[in-house]
Amino acid sequence: MAIKDIPVVSPLRAGLACRCPRCGKGPLFTGLLRVRQACEVCGLDLSAQDAGDGPAVFAILFLGMLVVGLAALVEIKFSPPLWVHLLLWAPLILIGAIAMLRPLKAGLIALQYRHRRLGTSLPS
Ligand SMILES: [Zn+2]
Repeated sequence: MAIKDIPVVSPLRAGLACRCPRCGKGPLFTGLLRVRQACEVCGLDLSAQDAGDGPAVFAILFLGMLVVGLAALVEIKFSPPLWVHLLLWAPLILIGAIAMLRPLKAGLIALQYRHRRLGTSLPS
């Protein structure tokens, strides 16, 4: 089986579904953010993957923009006490960061695979 015979999996689809970047079927994570050593379905070696700080940077930038914008809007419209801001934005930041990190990490790994930054060895 040659690399050109493997169907191309969209990095966006693989990222959103948190699936293997080569086959799009095997789950990518074993825990919340721990990447498997290899894909269960196609055997792609994922041990060399390194998304680095990329997913966290994108999550911080997006959530920061969203929360600062919403907090400014709420402050201008309602001028609530400080504890209301804490009650509103702390859970949004926490839940939003956890929800965004998995697909962002999977998407970056899929993009690295697409652009041949991960191993391209085929199963024997
Ligand atoms: Zn796979």
